[in-house]
This record gives sequence, structure tokens and C-alpha cells, in this order.
Amino acid sequence: MKKELKQIVEPIVKWYQKQEKTLPWKQDKEPYHIWVSEIMLQQTRIEAVKKYYTRFMKELPTIQDLAIVQEEKLLKLWEGLGYYSRAKNLKKAAIQIEQEYDGKLPTSYTQLLKLSGIGEYTAGAIASISYNEKVPAVDGNVLRVVSRVLASKEDVLLPETKRKVTKKLLEIMPDEPGDFNEGLMELGEKICLPNTVPLCEKCPIQEFCIAYKENLTNEIPVRIKKQKRKVENKTVFILKYKNEIAIRKREKTGILANLYEFPNVIRRNIRR
Ligand code: SF4
Repeated sequence: MKKELKQIVEPIVKWYQKQEKTLPWKQDKEPYHIWVSEIMLQQTRIEAVKKYYTRFMKELPTIQDLAIVQEEKLLKLWEGLGYYSRAKNLKKAAIQIEQEYDGKLPTSYTQLLKLSGIGEYTAGAIASISYNEKVPAVDGNVLRVVSRVLASKEDVLLPETKRKVTKKLLEIMPDEPGDFNEGLMELGEKICLPNTVPLCEKCPIQEFCIAYKENLTNEIPVRIKKQKRKVENKTVFILKYKNEIAIRKREKTGILANLYEFPNVIRRNIRR
């Protein structure tokens, strides 16, 4: 397997180096820029992130600005992106950086992992892109590409599968780890598409891809469905007086913590 995977390294690096870098966070390798963009891109589409990223950087151009920003302002900058704990963790980590790392993002994967809200993927992205450390950054795009190249039928939703892919990639990291990681991600975003037919005819690693050769691209990656989501029914009160409307602050913890909502109660025993 190592041999099969090793063959994709050079074509992916070359392909990525030729791609146009038009996204605002791809204009340099500044670790703060990579960090904020990667956090925004979690669970959010690239197109949607562009305007948020640009505005965020205009308002908070440095880690120091982020560390001292008022929470209300931070949440306003994040409004619409969802998963607000990401924004709060950014600020927490910025304070940590100020206090423990002299205001500069730490330069190694292991130290980056100690910061609030930075997991293996983000630490791998920052360390490889900004500091050239030979570590992988495995997100859903990378899992899909690697699973298809190897025609692996392991469930990509399992942490164990991610761990195995990370280990395999670690063994083949080239001298351009950032370009390789970004190339794998971009290939997954633009060519090796999810939920539809991948654009194999445009793929720079087609000749090494087992799923392509064996006509398995619609079966891989394997995703075993999760349990049903929990649904809560609520009665929401719209209380208006002249031009004013009642809202309240949510709890300090949990989903949408500290944000505002219309008063509401959970409905139980609904009869239809
Ligand atoms: S050949 Fe097709 S399935 Fe294989 S990596 Fe390329 S785009 Fe994905």
C-alpha cells in the first residue's frame, strides 16, 4: 500500500503548484491566516467563507487583536457561519498564545495541538503549510481521495480509518508537505468530488487510482450512516410592544451558547 500511495505524491505536488491561488487565505503562508481560514472552513463552504474571512482579517488583523476582542464583537463577525464555539476557541487560543508563546503561534505540530480548538487536522495544516513540517492534514476530502486511490472499503466515518490514513500519509510526506497536503485537499474539493461522479478524466493521479481502474468510484468512500438526529419541538413566543421585540440570551454552554433567541419552551407529548 505504501508503494501505491507514494506514487501519487509527485503528481499531486506538481498539480497543486500549477493551480491558481485566488482565495484570500492562499495569498501567503502566514500561520495566523492559515489558522483562521482552516477553522472557518470547518463545516462551511469555501464560497461562504470568503467574505467572512476578509472582514475578520480587516477587523482583527493580528493574534493580539483577536486576544482582546470583546466577545459580542467576535460573535457578530462570526454571525451566519454557525458553530460559534469555533470563534470562542479562536479567542481562547489567542489568549493562550499571548500568555504562553510570546504572542506568536507555536511552530510545531505537537505544540499547536495544545491550543484551544486546534485538532489534528488544523495543527497538520498550519505546521505543514506555514512551517514545512512533514505531517499530514487529514480532512474529509483527503480521506475520500486516499480511500479511492487504494480502493479501501473501510468506513471513513470511523476514527480508526482516519488514524490509519494519517499513518500511511505520514510515511510518504515529501519535502513540500504543505503543497502535498493542500494538493490532496484541493483535489478532493475540485476533482475527486463527493456525492457525485468524480472528474477522473481531469485527475492528475488517475493512472494510480485503483477505484478508477476497477470502476468502484461510486462505491467508495464507504460511509455507514449515523443514527437519526435528535429533534426538539419548541413553541416560540414573539412578544412585541410597539417597535420593540423581546429576545433573551441563551445559556453559557451548549449549542449557540451566549447568543440571542426568541423566548421559547420545549413542547412535550405532541399529539397529531
Ligand atoms: S481517478 Fe477519479 S476517483 Fe481516483 S483519485 Fe482521481 S478523481 Fe478520485
